Amino acid sequence: MKKQLNSVFTITHKDRRTKARIGVLHTKKGSVETPFFMPVSTKGAAKFINSKKIEELGAVATISNAFILSLRPGTKLINKLGGLGKFMNFSGVNFTDSGGFQMYSKSIYLSSNEKGVNFRNPISGEKIFMTPEKDMEIQLEIGSDVAMCLDRMPLYEDSKKEIENSVELTTIWAKRCKKHHDMLQSRIPHGRRQLLFGITQGGIHSDLRKQSIKQLLDLDFDGYSIGGFGMGETFKEEMKIVKAQKLLFPENKPIYLMGIGTPSEILEAISYGVDIFDSRLPTMNARHGELFTSIGKMKILNKKYENDKSPIDKNCNCFVCKNYSKAYVRFLLKEEESVGKELASYHNLYYLQNLIKEAKEHIKKGKFIEFKNKIKRVYK
Ligand SMILES: [Zn+2]
Repeated sequence: MKKQLNSVFTITHKDRRTKARIGVLHTKKGSVETPFFMPVSTKGAAKFINSKKIEELGAVATISNAFILSLRPGTKLINKLGGLGKFMNFSGVNFTDSGGFQMYSKSIYLSSNEKGVNFRNPISGEKIFMTPEKDMEIQLEIGSDVAMCLDRMPLYEDSKKEIENSVELTTIWAKRCKKHHDMLQSRIPHGRRQLLFGITQGGIHSDLRKQSIKQLLDLDFDGYSIGGFGMGETFKEEMKIVKAQKLLFPENKPIYLMGIGTPSEILEAISYGVDIFDSRLPTMNARHGELFTSIGKMKILNKKYENDKSPIDKNCNCFVCKNYSKAYVRFLLKEEESVGKELASYHNLYYLQNLIKEAKEHIKKGKFIEFKNKIKRVYK
């Protein structure tokens, strides 16, 4: 594929009946095809899955948390060792989140205002004041390929007034992030720059979401993230907003729906034109025995699988399904053995990678709706 250095995103296929599309995201590390799902590597590794396994299961990108990495081992060390991609030896694209997501944690998040955010260092207990400018410096020093703006993420239970305030702060910080990021990268040739995505907020309120997008579009980010989901809202609430929001973004910008990772949600969002996903849930649920299969969700800790010699999913080609039985994976998970957690997590991530691969094939064949409906039927 021809590398287009001056364009961040190229659309290569469009579905005729939905807004689903296949594209290419061009980053300083290389170009990767969308849509894609990113395993979450908060501290530079996914839980029980190392970076080589992430590559092996077919993921082209992963997302880490710049704020957490800045606390330990620190940005200087990562920078000295060649940046995050080299440090964790991942050949795909490295995204970093800003730390906005940490605002869900009452033990880390203290307060925020126009100037920035007060966090408590979970390691030392010290107070940290994070400004949008500092956040950009951290992400650049870590050397990720795609950075996120510092955003003020509201909680699902917050009042509309509180969510409105978070939208305002998110916009103020986004302006400062963009200005500082542009300044820091002004001497770097276009194709070698770190990309910066703006994050939109607004909870499940259509008017606030619309306001958030309008304000961020003026800043012309490389891509846009839809933030604040996966926090307790229903599938219907979430998808109504995603569908309406997607229509407000320019066609030529990559769109990243943050924190979403069930098969039905991913395919529904792809049908609205979303390009990028991440979620901790596929691995977290796997560790608790909830597995994705071609016939729907399976609770492998169920007693009925105690003597089951068959693989987790006979239609899955992952190394777990080729080599191990349900009974074995179930036993290891019950014993809380780390290998059990690894096998279950690997299978779930592989399932999602394969799901998106198949979704792309169906987009190309003009059969995406049929594929989406088939999967939605088994994941009711
Ligand atoms: Zn499998």
